[in-house]
Amino acid sequence: MTAVNRAADLDAADCLSAYRDRFLGSDDASIEAYLDGNSLGRPTKASVERITTFMSESWGGRLIRGWDEQWFDLPITVGDALAAAALGAESGQTTIGDSTTVLLYKLARGALALRPGRTEIVLDRDNFPTDRYLLEGIAGELNLTLRWIESDRRSGVTGAQLQDAVGDETALVVLSHVAYRSGYLLDAAGAADITHRAGGLLLLDLSHSVGSVPIELDSWGVDLAVGCTYKYLNGGPGSPAFAYVRQEHLEDFVQPIWGWMGRADPFEMGQGYVPAPGIRRVVSGTPSVFGMIAMQDTIEMIAEVGMQAIRDKSIALTEYALELVREQLVPLGVEIASPEDSVVRGGHVTIDHPDFKAVTAGLWDKGVIPDFRAPHGIRLGLSPLSTSFNEVRVGILAIRDELLA
Ligand SMILES: *Cc1c(COP(=O)(O)O)cnc(C)c1O
Repeated sequence: MTAVNRAADLDAADCLSAYRDRFLGSDDASIEAYLDGNSLGRPTKASVERITTFMSESWGGRLIRGWDEQWFDLPITVGDALAAAALGAESGQTTIGDSTTVLLYKLARGALALRPGRTEIVLDRDNFPTDRYLLEGIAGELNLTLRWIESDRRSGVTGAQLQDAVGDETALVVLSHVAYRSGYLLDAAGAADITHRAGGLLLLDLSHSVGSVPIELDSWGVDLAVGCTYKYLNGGPGSPAFAYVRQEHLEDFVQPIWGWMGRADPFEMGQGYVPAPGIRRVVSGTPSVFGMIAMQDTIEMIAEVGMQAIRDKSIALTEYALELVREQLVPLGVEIASPEDSVVRGGHVTIDHPDFKAVTAGLWDKGVIPDFRAPHGIRLGLSPLSTSFNEVRVGILAIRDELLA
């Protein structure tokens, strides 16, 4: 049977297929295929209720008392729930707040302060722009050297490349767990090991892996991590990011944005900044309570389903997408720009063709929504809980039709 004809069977055999109904808009006929859940996840139906209840009962009903009763601790309680469901981390090491960009800055600066005297930050050419720009800025501020790994755009940083890049001067290594363009899945435990043998610290960006790939921060030995909550965690546009700092570093960890909410005893309003005990010291100002509402529904759903079942579906989706690409698009000159081995691939697939910028615009008009990544990539983000095999089929046939038009 051709790949095109297998979508219905794959959906029928999918033990997570019922979860798709839990997402708002999953039955909207004007959206034929949503293939961008890795950029902005769909909202869950449960979040509509949680947000409404929050407005009427928590905000509207408790008013300022809400801070004492619940909101002040929310960054830590939601962080702990996320850590248990999706990060492989014991409680007390994760908090929610700021954007990924700002948390990356805070964690990178805090990490560098733990390695005084060392002069180099290791990063790679194809890391997400914000990661590269921030580290350029930090290197300028602290007079450090950036050691660039020339990573392959269609895969990612290999252990051998990392081994060559680290040394006696390495203070910090910053890598993405899943590469935002190729979808390459890093061997994070191996990277932590290589970094530690050189005496450095590893900061992982989990934006494209959290909620799609199992993560074991504690047992892998990762020192610090950040990630987005509006991608596979469906927190909504601009929902605050998360930060993880390994327990063993917390006591000495000092981040550079000394706000009152991260001080010990903030309501004492005392003189002088004294960092709060534990992970709370990563907090700076008033947390975005509203922004933390929707992600809680997805965190609960992940806890219910389990990351391994989510990963199994994710692999099945990307394998099916690649099968369709080989069958329908490769004959039209499309190239696969992601790892073909699922062991080193996360939850999305990128394909290249010189016409893809125009093709993507045509697709969006027709309610088929992947995203375009310069110079000429279409990225198919297959969010395991909300994407059906039929959507993958519809999306790839639509790309074929646009190329033939
Ligand atoms: C999406 C993404 C970000 C986004 O950072 P913001 O501060 O939320 O804009 C950062 N890093 C990676 C790897 C991403 O995929």
